[in-house]
Amino acid sequence: MARPRTASRDAGEVDAVKGQPGQAVLPIYRRRGELVRLLPSVILVLFILWFGRAQVDSRKWLDIGTEAMYLAIAAAGVNVLLGYTGLLSLGHAAFFVSGGYAGAILSPALGIPPWLGFILAFAASAALGAVLALMCVHLHGFYLTVVTFGFGALVPAIVVVAKNQLGGPAGRAVDHFVDTSKVPGAGHGPFSLQLGLFYLSAFLLVVVLFLCWNLVRSRWGRAFMAIRESEVAARVSGVNAYWYKVASFALSAGIVGVAGWLGAQRFVLVSSQVATPDQSFRYVIMVAVGGMGTLAGPVLGAFAFSFGFAIGWVQNTFRDYQGLLYGTLGLLAIATAPEGTVGNLRRLARRYQLRRARRGAVLRTMPPPDVAPELQLPAVRERAGTEGNAVVLEVSGLTKRFGGVAALSEVDLVVERGTVHALIGPNGSGKTTFINVVTGLYKPTAGRVDLDGQSLEGLSPAVRSRRGVARTFQNLQLWRRMTVLENVMVGAHARERVGLVHALLRTPKARRVERRLSERAWGLLHFVGLAGRGRDLAGTLAFADMRRLEIARALASDPEVLLLDEPAAGMQVSEIHDLADLIRQVRDAGVTVLLIEHHMDLVMGLSDRVSVLDYGQKIAEGSPAEVRHDDRVVAAYLGQETA
Ligand code: ADP
Ligand code: MG
Repeated sequence: MARPRTASRDAGEVDAVKGQPGQAVLPIYRRRGELVRLLPSVILVLFILWFGRAQVDSRKWLDIGTEAMYLAIAAAGVNVLLGYTGLLSLGHAAFFVSGGYAGAILSPALGIPPWLGFILAFAASAALGAVLALMCVHLHGFYLTVVTFGFGALVPAIVVVAKNQLGGPAGRAVDHFVDTSKVPGAGHGPFSLQLGLFYLSAFLLVVVLFLCWNLVRSRWGRAFMAIRESEVAARVSGVNAYWYKVASFALSAGIVGVAGWLGAQRFVLVSSQVATPDQSFRYVIMVAVGGMGTLAGPVLGAFAFSFGFAIGWVQNTFRDYQGLLYGTLGLLAIATAPEGTVGNLRRLARRYQLRRARRGAVLRTMPPPDVAPELQLPAVRERAGTEGNAVVLEVSGLTKRFGGVAALSEVDLVVERGTVHALIGPNGSGKTTFINVVTGLYKPTAGRVDLDGQSLEGLSPAVRSRRGVARTFQNLQLWRRMTVLENVMVGAHARERVGLVHALLRTPKARRVERRLSERAWGLLHFVGLAGRGRDLAGTLAFADMRRLEIARALASDPEVLLLDEPAAGMQVSEIHDLADLIRQVRDAGVTVLLIEHHMDLVMGLSDRVSVLDYGQKIAEGSPAEVRHDDRVVAAYLGQETA
């Protein structure tokens, strides 16, 4: 099948160089399997080994090293929620304390060996995090942050109330601590306890980073990031945003709990003193200065704080100005947001590569993988018993009022399988509202929507996506700080399932799911002609390509019906031609298309049937030729058509 693909669109090298810097941090060009990716991990491990050896005789530095390790764990935990999922919590220090208490109280109570206490700490903090999240993640932005802040401030009060169990403000001694001198490498020196704890903390940090590394390359991590970039788009792509936010919150709290357990081991004491909003704020600053949504950022931030403040000069100079210092760093974090230090380093590396490219060096990106031809086409999911249904989407009496405005009133619409059905009408006539109601983002005031003869009433956008409703957005809703490929992979979110534990450990099952999702996504990128850009960030695409990417993402769920909301808006004439070809191929592959458009040429040349909306009412319907000559349509719509 011929595809509308221009040479330049497939030539990733050329286009990628031209990408628009400044919109987002662009990936650094890497060749296949380049070991540079492992460099930060290698540096970290070498640093840990060196530090343990070099500071074997310094109790002070061993303590500081241990603190750096567990603060890095806490920062990595905060990063799961803040950096990947985009939710700001100012109460996470509470999970640090709950982790400490869980280890101190539960592990003797349950008779569990003390060195397994970190599992209890994780579980208890994650459970507490989940409880809080269940109550508050439906809130947005500021409101969510305020609730977490209040929660964090509540913890010291709880500790006072439960004085007998938790020890009151002074804290509770940990009598069930790990004999860290038995940790391999701790040796027999005077500070073997401290050295052992340092190695234990460092080991847990490496484990946490390994899990996070797997997470961002999994269906779970991508769902988190999609929620961060555009929650609406995530929901209509089949991601149940509420539960993913709860999961992210719990995972993040659990990781911070492990850090708290290590802190309790260090001081042999748990106390609510560290559960201040101040401390929660400090975690956030560490993550933000280091780099939100990067793996190395939180570690870098935590190390800078721990080691930085341990230097005598810094201590002497800033002892009385800590608030000022944190404030300044907060401003710095905003100035370098969102990717912080790590993001800026990456930007520098990329600039260096581009400069070399301008001098003639060839920047070789990994070519897109070959994909079986059958995966390069849209597909309609097989559904037992519904294949014969000639009507895909049936809408009757659909009404949507916003206060006094009836954006839709009593609209009936029947979309037949395998057709391109156009829905046209002047600005403000209710077209986008129609899509929002059909996809479940808006609840209709009255009327019903049936897909394949089954009512969609009361179903969430995510469930409707799984049933076969997919859409694009008039105002693009791409996940800009994710790659083009990842965008399409999240589009296919609902086609696969994989448990969080599988994802974190990247088990063979998780790998199989990844392979299937990425194959499917590459196939659809070939289909829309964007395979050459697969590894670039979506935010760097040209406008017309962004629209094509939204189509690929919507197709990834194997929809029954694809709702396109003004896909040609802002496109040039030649691009509109390509788009028309693409839509025809989508229909030929068996996906029914509901096309909302403003460009009459596109609508008339492409549609099998046209319905016209005006002021929320359907005023005409028929073949393109009939509609074109309908008096009411001419009066309401074509008369003011300028394009
Ligand atoms: P179209 O897509 O055809 O340009 P819309 O569906 O966006 O039109 O809008 C139809 C009408 O509904 C407009 O008058 C608009 O102001 C109103 N409307 C749409 N969404 C909302 C909303 N969330 N709240 C209030 N009014 C809305
Ligand atoms: Mg609209």
